[in-house]
Formats: sequence, C-alpha cells, structure tokens
Amino acid sequence: MKIIMLGAPGAGKGTQAKMIAEKCGIPHISTGDIFRANIKEGTELGKKAKGYMDKGELVPDELTCDLVMDRISHDDCKNGFILDGFPRTIPQAEALSAALEKAGQAMDYAIDIEIPDQNIIDRMGGRRACAVCGATYHLVNIPPKVEGHCDECGGPLILRDDDKPETVKNRLSVYHTQTQPLIEYYSKKGILSEVDGTMEMQAVFDAIIKAIGA
Ligand code: AMP
Repeated sequence: MKIIMLGAPGAGKGTQAKMIAEKCGIPHISTGDIFRANIKEGTELGKKAKGYMDKGELVPDELTCDLVMDRISHDDCKNGFILDGFPRTIPQAEALSAALEKAGQAMDYAIDIEIPDQNIIDRMGGRRACAVCGATYHLVNIPPKVEGHCDECGGPLILRDDDKPETVKNRLSVYHTQTQPLIEYYSKKGILSEVDGTMEMQAVFDAIIKAIGA
C-alpha cells in the first residue's frame, strides 16, 4: 500500500504516519526527518537544506526529489510505504508519479488531514522535539513521561527553530500557496480522502484506517 500524507505543518501528519506505518508494516518516509538527520550529521545536503528550513521555506525540488526516489527504490519499500511531508509541490508530485509509472506503479491513497490555521499555531507553540533522536512531543497532547526529557533516549526536549511562531506563520503561508494545490491534484486522480484533523489523535487514526481499508 502506497500512501501520501497531506496537510499543513502541525496537522499531525508525522504522528499519524508513524502509527499507520506500524499497523500496515510499511516504512514511514519523512523528508523533514531525513533533512534533519543530514543537518545533524553535517552532510552537504544538510548544509544546503538548513538555511531553507530555518526560515520555514521549502528545500528546492531538485534536492528533494532525488532523495525520495532513491529511498522508495530500497527493498523495504517493495510492499508499499507512507510518505510524510512529500510531495509538497506540484512538480514533486509529478516527479513521484513519473518515477512510479516507470515501474508500472501508482500511489494508492492521499490522505489530507484538515485543520484550521489557528489550531496549528496553538499546537506548534507546544511542540517539543528531542535534540538527540528527533522524537516529537506536545506539552499538552503528548507530554513526555519526564518533563523536558525524551522518553526514547532521555535527550533534552527543545522548540525546533522551524516551530517558532514567526517561522510557523511563514510555513503556513508556504503551505497554502505551494502545497495546498496538491489536494485538488490528488482529488482529480481519484485517490484523495479528507480527514478532520481537529479530532482526538485516535479518532483521526481510525478515520484514516477506514479510508484506506486497512
Ligand atoms: P516537516 O518536518 O515535514 O514539517 O519538514 C520540515 C522542513 O523541511 C520544511 O519546512 C521544509 O523546509 C523541509 N522539507 C521537508 N519536506 C520537504 C519537501 N517535500 N520539499 C521541500 N522542503 C521540504
């Protein structure tokens, strides 16, 4: 099963994608996580991506597309995968579609998690990420067991630069202009399902599972 998660930054794509990946036994591919890992390792890609990410802008398509095409060609993607944060532009969606077509394949589902901007601004102010392993938390909705420390590795929890209020506003505006058109794009392809992202995390998950018939 090949699934795309759509929705504004902070809509809960990452959390849901992880849960779906686990339930369906397919890899969770987050371009944001891949870029952050590259930044941490100090790779050339990480150095190039950081400037865009810190400002809340998109990393250019030419840096992003090859990375994803390479990742989905790995053996663990044979039975499907879930894309979280990709595609984010129409050219990215077209590159994905062309790459899959070459292999006689196509995406099965695009899930759009719908949520008003103001809810996102409120949510992201409470988001915290582990500085060591990148696991994400929320001060109110998904608090860590020990305040300020990651459940997974004990690392310190921080407010990511790209979750800071001014950056969040820019990311939302980038989302509306560059990513939102994908909703119509996948609707026209007949694979779009819309889910109300203001519901409880478990209710959102149940709605997605129903939409993909898993
Ligand atoms: P995320 O964790 O998915 O919210 O991504 C964090 C940041 O990584 C975004 O604000 C972008 O700067 C960059 N990024 C992630 N995925 C993409 C993509 N598909 N295209 C361009 N930039 C991306």
